[in-house]
Amino acid sequence: MSSDTIFGKIIRREIPADIVYEDDLCLAFRDVNPQAPTHILVVPKEHLESAQAMGPEQRELVGHLVYVANQVAAKDGIAERGYRLVFNVGVDGGLTVPHLHLHVIGGRPLTWPPG
Ligand code: 5GP
Repeated sequence: MSSDTIFGKIIRREIPADIVYEDDLCLAFRDVNPQAPTHILVVPKEHLESAQAMGPEQRELVGHLVYVANQVAAKDGIAERGYRLVFNVGVDGGLTVPHLHLHVIGGRPLTWPPG
């Protein structure tokens, strides 16, 4: 079940996105406001508000998101130099779209700690 969020609309093809990968469980598309040369969001088709909302039954799904993130990173040519995988959670974590998504960010050196 997808959601009424902007990502639910992208999953249902109600609004366009630059989709780079799709399978039965998830969709990956480029972030509309990229923070680096590669900025892809890996989004499960099932609606979960955030990583915090996962239960034991979603352990395999969340592992699949990480697996797909690594694959899209490799396809974008950033695997060798590295990249960042980020789940934002809650207000302080910077979550703005309440449909679970894994950010894949790379293609330039990233600073740490985050702001
Ligand atoms: P969050 O802050 O919730 O972790 O990340 C949400 C991300 O979704 C942001 O990086 C934002 O730029 C991206 N975003 C918001 N609306 C859209 C949209 O309509 N299309 C795409 N492709 N990305 C979006």
